[in-house]
Amino acid sequence: MTQSAIKLFQYPESLKERFLQTSDIEFRYSKTVTPEEIWHFMTVDAPRRYPYAYEVNPYFRDQISADIGFLTGIKSRYLRLSLKDRLLNAHENGVPIIFTQGGQTFEPYYTAGGIPLRPGLISRFANDLTEGQTVNELGNSRKEKLEFGNKLISTESCPIVGAHVTAQRGIVPVDLVAPYLCLRCSDKQYLVESYRNRKNVEAYLNPASRGPYFKENIPLMLIDYPIDQQNEKDWAIDYLETMLRNLTAKVSELSGKEVNDQVLAEEIRYENKVRKLTQNIVHLWWNAPVPPTNSSDFVGTSNTSAGLFRIGNEFSGDPNGAYSVLKDACAELQERVRNGVKGVGVADDPVRIYICGPAATESADPGHIDRVDGVVVGKDDQWSEISTLVDEGGNNPYRNLARAILSFPMELPTEERAAWTIEQVKKSRADGLIFTHTWGCNFQSSVARMICDIVRDEAGIPVMDTGTAGGGPSLLGEEQSKTRLGAFIEMISG
Ligand code: SF4
Repeated sequence: MTQSAIKLFQYPESLKERFLQTSDIEFRYSKTVTPEEIWHFMTVDAPRRYPYAYEVNPYFRDQISADIGFLTGIKSRYLRLSLKDRLLNAHENGVPIIFTQGGQTFEPYYTAGGIPLRPGLISRFANDLTEGQTVNELGNSRKEKLEFGNKLISTESCPIVGAHVTAQRGIVPVDLVAPYLCLRCSDKQYLVESYRNRKNVEAYLNPASRGPYFKENIPLMLIDYPIDQQNEKDWAIDYLETMLRNLTAKVSELSGKEVNDQVLAEEIRYENKVRKLTQNIVHLWWNAPVPPTNSSDFVGTSNTSAGLFRIGNEFSGDPNGAYSVLKDACAELQERVRNGVKGVGVADDPVRIYICGPAATESADPGHIDRVDGVVVGKDDQWSEISTLVDEGGNNPYRNLARAILSFPMELPTEERAAWTIEQVKKSRADGLIFTHTWGCNFQSSVARMICDIVRDEAGIPVMDTGTAGGGPSLLGEEQSKTRLGAFIEMISG
């Protein structure tokens, strides 16, 4: 399609008056923005700078949700599309950017004055450094990064290899690579080790393969994580506490911010506040007679990083900004539920689907499930952490945090994870469960069948275990995934 033939979506002016009555977004690392400024950004600046997000195109990558009357959806998108500006600005002001991992707690990084970014947000950040891209151009540039990683490091890795070579090449600024070695992930250990590989460094000698933030040595750190039922064992809590203390000390060295137990305790209180608010939103949505938003606005996908679930768990690089948007979301959802409003695009009696699997995405298009008469009610990836509150009592916040981290349901032995999943299936009134795992995600693909079988036998709902290409840039397998999703939902609805 030629550039001139591409149609861009526009927010209608008729929404503006109502939108301007909503509240500001208060950020921790950048200045407060008013609804007027957000509206201007979303209707004038962002369509010019990030046209892919507005492109009317059947191949969904990161576009706006169809439910434009859900005003918090505009703010969720603002968080997503303002990410690059906020990160560059914070980084210029001396805030270190830390590459971390999915599903794990952020307290140590924020406490010590850094911004932790999971692989998805590293990729989104890199995507937006080139402005003016169409959906196709964005896809090609993501593909180039993924293939660079596949050739240089491994073709066996899941798509996070793309985010790691993006950091190694210096396409985005990364000051520390410090993920948790949690059970869920089979790939990050060797991807972190790959930074030490001299052959990789040589691959970047060609300036054409480097970005503006290239440096030969990015500091590396792994937060070791005792697995398999360790959350009640003192030695495991002591060990993880030491890891967390080392982590905050390292981040603090980079940021210059002094850290003590009191500062961590305050951060835990703040992030618990975000978790509690997200829990309220999720329970409100689950208990509503009709789904008050569509799947895209509620959970999103790893492509969009903009659903309420994701904001409550990933914060879009700023916990305070996330809290501001979630507060609005809660009020707007309460009103929708009171008035019996259903999200745009959701069928009258949709098949409710609970999704398991980290980062993997059942389809690159979060609107697809809605179009085949389903609706996504939750994802265990983000919910595992959102639903675990950290104890705020006692005088050792590091220990409290270590105990919470060791209790994340998604990191527990598989039978326990399955038992927790059954509880969530019941609470969310799910009619079916899909376990998705992307190419290269070895641990999740090996536990998927067992979890599916336990849920099917004990919760009595249909289940589907399906591998995907992870919504990757080539959209490889996307049509097959959509066909399987459609058939699964049709089977449930009869
Ligand atoms: S998809 Fe699997 S292997 Fe890849 S980062 Fe996520 S957990 Fe790790």
